[in-house]
Amino acid sequence: MSYTAETKPHAVFTPYPLQGHINPLFKLAKLLHLKGFHITFVHTEYNYRRFLNSKGPDALDELPDFRFETIPDGLPPSDGDVSQDIPSLCDSLRKNFLQPFRDLLARLNHSATTPPVTCLVSDCFVTFPIQAAHELGIPVLLLSPLSAAAFWGFMHYRTLVDRGIIPLKEESYLTNGYLDTKVDCIPGLQNYRLKDLPDFLRTTDPNDFMLHFFIEVAEKVPSASAVAFNTFHELERDAINALPSMFPSLYSIGPFPSFLDQSPHKQVPSLGSNLWKEDTGCLDWLESKEPRSVVYVNFGSITVMSAEQLLEFAWGLANSKKPFLWIIRPDLVIGGSVILSSEFVNETRDRSLIASWCPQEQVLNHPSIGVFLTHCGWNSTTESICAGVPMLCWPFFADQPTNCRYICNEWEIGMEIDTNAKREELEKLVNELMVGEKGKKMGQKTMELKKKAEEETRPGGGSYMNLDKLIKEVLLKQT
Ligand code: UDP
Repeated sequence: MSYTAETKPHAVFTPYPLQGHINPLFKLAKLLHLKGFHITFVHTEYNYRRFLNSKGPDALDELPDFRFETIPDGLPPSDGDVSQDIPSLCDSLRKNFLQPFRDLLARLNHSATTPPVTCLVSDCFVTFPIQAAHELGIPVLLLSPLSAAAFWGFMHYRTLVDRGIIPLKEESYLTNGYLDTKVDCIPGLQNYRLKDLPDFLRTTDPNDFMLHFFIEVAEKVPSASAVAFNTFHELERDAINALPSMFPSLYSIGPFPSFLDQSPHKQVPSLGSNLWKEDTGCLDWLESKEPRSVVYVNFGSITVMSAEQLLEFAWGLANSKKPFLWIIRPDLVIGGSVILSSEFVNETRDRSLIASWCPQEQVLNHPSIGVFLTHCGWNSTTESICAGVPMLCWPFFADQPTNCRYICNEWEIGMEIDTNAKREELEKLVNELMVGEKGKKMGQKTMELKKKAEEETRPGGGSYMNLDKLIKEVLLKQT
């Protein structure tokens, strides 16, 4: 569809202010831009400063019809990284964001250079735009940055409380096998155990803040115009089929990496959403490596670990004798900086590279990558599938146990490492995945899923058509 500058539909995006939530919303923003929308992407002031600092001087800033705006995050000034304090952010989202957002919408609607706002697109955990949309009489779409199954798990926290399954009766339930209990009250998640569901339910406190935050979100989600997912039918058939019982207006429109890869337009996709400065030198380093020979290690933007755990990973990688690219964020190790012994450095010097942040999708798509050692964030999971790379899973928290279950048990494209992973186990699993028979099969299955992802997102594919339907039935609809 083609529009003039004045008649363009105008979508305003509000991500939850964390990297793993910003990225999928940003990708949907790019897709809608390609479909002719004017985009306003709203960062918190704090994240926008980081976003600007992370870019090189030549980076493409904005386009006339793809703009950034900011609102304050409402948190007290801090020397540390406020982005990691999830309860404070959630609390502030509920209390402090709506009024500045209303003011921003009023400003955009009175601007002579911007078309009127015609729809809102928000993260499914950021619900204040629902009220703003109702006040303006425009549609509001919620995008889940999680799998449909994990989202569905969150939506059932209330049911689990009502049935007395959570909160846990006592601390010992965390370790006495209780979490292995099968959950039979969530349609579509057959044979899921409590420990496969998003882990904010692992609390003994009936007043737990996060538990109640998610229960409150679940109550608000049905008043949005529609919910969309960065997923596709083949990946999550059961969950996707179950969800319409609660959310009739539902669209699976992923996976985004494969969607954007197949896009003929290159200008908008070059706009990035990273909050950390990327080290692109690792791509040169990968050039010097054999095809499918490198273990890529990255635990995303929030996962942390103890210094002891880091050492186990370090020596597991060293002892595997495989080349590895390891992304170690400066704040990865709890309570201190990363110290790797000179013995480890000498041992691995010729076959390793350590960096603090990288262009992950480009790395995953490099032919030298053989295996991804990951914390199983949903973005990392879908990016790995779209690159055809099997995974070694070390789920840390939130929805990651659900994703790990998918990877290891349902799709069979990866293996799980114990929470207290020891170097011997890591060495064995790296070798099994890189050169073993099981690893070979998993590699083939990952390639099959990659192909399906491509089919879904090219013209005529399920997700491709769902995106067009979503635009027509929801985003362009006058309420
Ligand atoms: N990412 C990246 N470079 C890095 C680490 C992460 O570009 O060095 C991106 C990654 O591609 C993904 C996001 O950050 O899109 C992380 O999201 P995910 O859901 O995997 O995990 P989270 O950070 O939310 O735990």
